[in-house]
Amino acid sequence: MKKYNRVLTHHNDLLACFTTRLEGVSPPPYRGFNVAFHVGDNPDHVRTNHQTLATLLHYDRAKLVYMNQIHSDHVHILTDEDDFDHPPTCDALITHRRETPLMVMSADCIPILVYDPTHEVIAAIHAGRAGALSAIVPKTLQTMKEVYGSHLHELHIAIGPSIQGCCYEVNATIAHEVKSLGYGTALRYEEEKIFLDVYTIVQQQLMTLGVLHIDVTQYHCSACHHDEYFSYRADHQRTGRMGGVISLQSSVPTA
Ligand SMILES: [Zn+2]
Repeated sequence: MKKYNRVLTHHNDLLACFTTRLEGVSPPPYRGFNVAFHVGDNPDHVRTNHQTLATLLHYDRAKLVYMNQIHSDHVHILTDEDDFDHPPTCDALITHRRETPLMVMSADCIPILVYDPTHEVIAAIHAGRAGALSAIVPKTLQTMKEVYGSHLHELHIAIGPSIQGCCYEVNATIAHEVKSLGYGTALRYEEEKIFLDVYTIVQQQLMTLGVLHIDVTQYHCSACHHDEYFSYRADHQRTGRMGGVISLQSSVPTA
């Protein structure tokens, strides 16, 4: 039980991890390691949590870039204007810049981290149901291919804690949309209820793209385990956010 769990650990000069809600200074309902300013938590608490994480992970807090996430398919390549105080509005961030951590925030949606070891490029993706259905993941990987020459079969991808098919109940309208887009296997019917597993959609997209390396060691259900993870649904919407962090940096803490 700790503040963060590392992923993609077999690469030198790469930091990648998913934070939990454990420890941290935020009081309920944001208990405790909330990294989001937009949820109603005291900004001083959020900043303290960010600074703690930056110190533990050996990066400069001011250089971390997170996103104003809007459940879109908008992919953004990092620019000089983006920093901790000026987050871009998008649902995927890509950069080749070193010592510049990218963060995706989540509390049930799927946080995804991407590493291209050949071209030294990283990405952070926010994929909830809407983002997954509008193909935010394929769009991000295609952008890496077009802009940086990434080969999709060489990418290493990590999937973070998010609500799974055991807990994510949806209505018939959503189920119909999911099915009409060709993702019927992501649905599970149980008596009168319908459940959706968003990762099944993402997994299908990754397989179609020829992605081979997927790290699911931190893919746990955020709702089943909302003592350890923030869950928008299990915490009845008032809750904090976890961070998926990825950074190309020479100083990486020992796992
Ligand atoms: Zn669950």
